[in-house]
Amino acid sequence: MKDQYQRNIDYMRVSVTDRCNLRCRYCMPKDIELLPMEEILSFEEILEIVHQAASLGIRKIKITGGEPLVRKNCTGLIAKIRETEGIEKVTLTTNGILLPEYIEDLKAAGIDGINISLDTLRKDRFQEITGFDALDQVLAGIDASLNAGIRTKINTVLQKGVNDGEWQDLMLLAKDRPLDVRFIEMMPIGYGAVSTGVSDIELRSKIRELYPGTEEDHTAHGNGPAVYVRIPGFCGGVGFIAAINEKFCKDCNRIRLTSAGRIKPCLCYGDSFDLREILRTKEGPERDALLKETLQKAITYKPKEHCFEAKSSVTEKKKMSQIGG
Ligand code: SAM
Ligand code: SF4
Repeated sequence: MKDQYQRNIDYMRVSVTDRCNLRCRYCMPKDIELLPMEEILSFEEILEIVHQAASLGIRKIKITGGEPLVRKNCTGLIAKIRETEGIEKVTLTTNGILLPEYIEDLKAAGIDGINISLDTLRKDRFQEITGFDALDQVLAGIDASLNAGIRTKINTVLQKGVNDGEWQDLMLLAKDRPLDVRFIEMMPIGYGAVSTGVSDIELRSKIRELYPGTEEDHTAHGNGPAVYVRIPGFCGGVGFIAAINEKFCKDCNRIRLTSAGRIKPCLCYGDSFDLREILRTKEGPERDALLKETLQKAITYKPKEHCFEAKSSVTEKKKMSQIGG
């Protein structure tokens, strides 16, 4: 359905857990408070929301977290969402660690694409950023996804003075592999508000200098706001999600469901609508009607744009692992 600015909202990010097997410092501080398990939506509750969302025109679902694959039988949930009437595409965003274990189940579930987050190719730096010595597992996860023939993307967040010197090495992952590497600008959510990101505009001009034959790629690569370039001799594409420096809100197509059952119209603002309360206190046609009405409200009143450029106006106080990115 359309929101008040006539944007077609057909994409919902669904966070299935606030837990994670890493502690990326800009996303999930070590002392973060986790939700009691009973406050997290059950799979049945998630499926009910997806069903209602599909009836309003949601066609694409991204499974996220925390780390979605740490939740038991996440692949079973994916299979069920994939079978939901109206849902055309289900993709996953993961840190990749558990991919070798679950790739066959994901394939059998009908997953349409996997995004793997990777900020560094250096073991020591991986530990510094994520708190764990697990780079080899992530690299094995990337191979597993590619070997299974699943459309694979790497998501990289660059931070000045931390991993910004690695942009070329990270980009080169797309040279000999059929995957896209996407640079996501750091957003002022959680610790992201006090760390310094790298502008995708700067990065694009550096890439053009290095590879003068680089061309804009206007073919569709996914659900969202990434813009891509094709670099001569590269097997995969290189993309940019310039949330800060190239605001893409006029084309925003998404809402977000948190693991606690709140529906968020925009990443930047704390406003959200409680679906869990409806699921746990209402029954029958009243419950269906209320779920639908609340989803409609969240879509209709999506704000015109984020205000990440004015950090003090950002009202979302949760960390990214509590939202789902
Ligand atoms: N655990 C999964 C993963 O790492 O892909 C899914 C959840 S994670 C919250 C989703 C994405 O959000 C990751 O690619 C992560 O790098 C990104 N992210 C977390 N905090 C961010 C921030 N402040 N700004 C931009 N991206 C952020
Ligand atoms: Fe976990 Fe993903 Fe956040 Fe890293 S970015 S702490 S892997 S949820």
